[in-house]
Amino acid sequence: LPILQQARSSTMASGEWNGELLQRTRHGSEILVDSRWTLITDDTGRPRSILSINIDISEKKSLQRQLIRSQRLEGLGTLAGGIAHDLNNVLTPIMMSIEGLRTRHTDPRTLKALDTMEAGAQRGADIIKQLLTFARGMKGDYVTLDPRHVLKDVERILRSTFPKSIQCRFRIDPSLAPISGDVTQIHQVLLNLCVNARDAMPEGGTLSVVADNRELDSECRRINRDAKPGSYVRMEVSDTGHGIPPDILDKIFDPFFTTKDYGKGTGLGLSTALTIVKNHGGFLNVYSIPGHGASFSVYVPSAGPGRTTTLSLPEAEQVRGSNELILVVDDEEFVRDVALETLESAGYRVLLALDGVDGLRTFLERKSEIDAVLTDVMMPNMDGLELVKRIRSEHQNIPIVAMSGMVASEKLNEMKTYGVRELLLKPFTSRGLAKSIHEALSGKSGIS
Ligand code: ADP
Repeated sequence: LPILQQARSSTMASGEWNGELLQRTRHGSEILVDSRWTLITDDTGRPRSILSINIDISEKKSLQRQLIRSQRLEGLGTLAGGIAHDLNNVLTPIMMSIEGLRTRHTDPRTLKALDTMEAGAQRGADIIKQLLTFARGMKGDYVTLDPRHVLKDVERILRSTFPKSIQCRFRIDPSLAPISGDVTQIHQVLLNLCVNARDAMPEGGTLSVVADNRELDSECRRINRDAKPGSYVRMEVSDTGHGIPPDILDKIFDPFFTTKDYGKGTGLGLSTALTIVKNHGGFLNVYSIPGHGASFSVYVPSAGPGRTTTLSLPEAEQVRGSNELILVVDDEEFVRDVALETLESAGYRVLLALDGVDGLRTFLERKSEIDAVLTDVMMPNMDGLELVKRIRSEHQNIPIVAMSGMVASEKLNEMKTYGVRELLLKPFTSRGLAKSIHEALSGKSGIS
């Protein structure tokens, strides 16, 4: 043990030594200690003994490792966000063009090919959305939403992607209350729980999802430390898998804690789910009988009987303009092209500008004719926010629609304070675009 010898000779020579040592506890587990050795001498100054004080720093070290990991993840997040943003710009024109082509072709084989293309592009868009959730952290885009829609979508994914050996049962209370939340995040929580349930049942089994309304009274702190009395929507995911041993039950929510093989698990699923649920003012409960299965219950406060937004646009709704002039500002040629085509075929006239500076110039020249502005957020020279500020100082009330690849950004939020009426998320469909412009012009979707 050269390190111990070194410590010893250094203590003898200088009277003390400090360093890190690996040690074994009485129970046989290995720990890392911060060790301080001091030489004790007798009255005549002769070395008598060595006093050694050890502090267990295993946990500190592992926290440090976690911190470094999470910092690395943050860097990855920034990178992922940037890539996702660019990919959105790639996908937007594809998705919009597909819709345009569909109106012009009737040949069944062409239509089938277009379906395939659209499904592929949509899958790409979904992946980008996931990436963005990861990249932007946990800040949500809160709306009043109907959890039944989210549950339905989760059911669709499970039924089409989970192995047939797993039986999926859904029992959703038809009068389930709305909640205030971020659709993508609630979706992610449920999906993470379901994926864990699937992984706990490699030989197959039953996965059940139950959702109902729950009233919690003052006794509720017995269910969970974070619970407060009130009305909740409870969504429970249970499986008949291998269950969770009691000794790891309090670790499973830690970031990076995983029992899955390398490459299979990240250990981020439950910690992400817990953070999201807490941010929604709710709490998460887990219950497991090893060998028989596990059950996770998500409680989110209900938002009372309120208006609920649907996840998708109503199918048949066709909106048409009446020759209004729309200024479209985007630095991506593709997006400009497709916006031009979409808006013209929906009955609008279009002016195109290449960036914020060009957009402002065009706006100032044709101010009296322009009825609405559609602008990108991230652009070179002058970005969307700056453009909106300048336009607002010229013309208080003109409807402005912003389109962005970022789900939530400081800029987007600030644009809202300048009365930007609609925020279109890229990639959007041509129907979505025409609808947003229509709503902005008719003042339906004003943000207070
Ligand atoms: P990951 O799934 O990447 O491992 P999670 O944070 O989602 O990360 O889960 C952490 C650990 O919790 C899993 O590795 C597993 O040991 C345990 N776990 C989670 N859900 C279940 C479940 N339904 N049944 C058994 N164990 C589970």
